[in-house]
Amino acid sequence: MKIARFHYDHETHFGVVDGVAVRVLEGDPMRDGIVETGVTLELSDVDLIAPVAPSKVVCIGMNFAEHAAEMHHDGPATPLIFLKPPTAVVGDGDTIVIPPLPGRIVHEGELAVVIGRRAHRVAEADWRDVVFGYTIANDVSARDVMFADGQWARAKGYDTFCPIGPWIETEFDPFERHEITTTVDGEVRRRGFTSDMTHKVSEIIAFVSDAFTLFPGDIICTGTPAGLGGFTDGQTVSITIDGIGTLTNPARNRDDRV
Ligand code: MG
Repeated sequence: MKIARFHYDHETHFGVVDGVAVRVLEGDPMRDGIVETGVTLELSDVDLIAPVAPSKVVCIGMNFAEHAAEMHHDGPATPLIFLKPPTAVVGDGDTIVIPPLPGRIVHEGELAVVIGRRAHRVAEADWRDVVFGYTIANDVSARDVMFADGQWARAKGYDTFCPIGPWIETEFDPFERHEITTTVDGEVRRRGFTSDMTHKVSEIIAFVSDAFTLFPGDIICTGTPAGLGGFTDGQTVSITIDGIGTLTNPARNRDDRV
């Protein structure tokens, strides 16, 4: 089942995406379950927004061996956690705004876990109990700022640096071999498979929830596969995960970038 969140008639709703239609839900499916209103809209008539408004976005760094190698790193023995602020989150179709920073702005196409219930110190065997579904994230990163700052909060935390969407797929197995492909203006830049993560989603949920209490709607980005290259003003970044869909965002310079 694909669950989207959208603006329609000046209100925010959740809905079940069914082909070119969306069946409107009552309330928040993470709180209220799947309760249909009986109203069906055309998908093209609604404005999709980020499928959740997370209290926090937790990210896992260097979780694919080939990507760690291209970053000149062996890959961490335990999941490497960092955070992106919720103010960085935008939805499918929204613009990634590039501030006046030195160096490249890099796309990181990633599988994102959507938490469905309050989760604190979850046992690895119980990881499925706290997952609502999965979406796609772009962990946008100012690479040179990461190295210059010595930590990643600013480089990965600018407004619009966390596109997520287009919707949440509730029937998806991250242990299966689902391809993750990132393109810029249609050219493939990164490619990998969910089954190749170093630290699996079960281990990640146990590890992260040992440190942070997770709330419904929180997001965990599971790391990017290998592939280099960035994007600039006027280009469009698309990330496809088979079994979920495609997240597409245009990029433009902020008005103070010369
Ligand atoms: Mg990343």
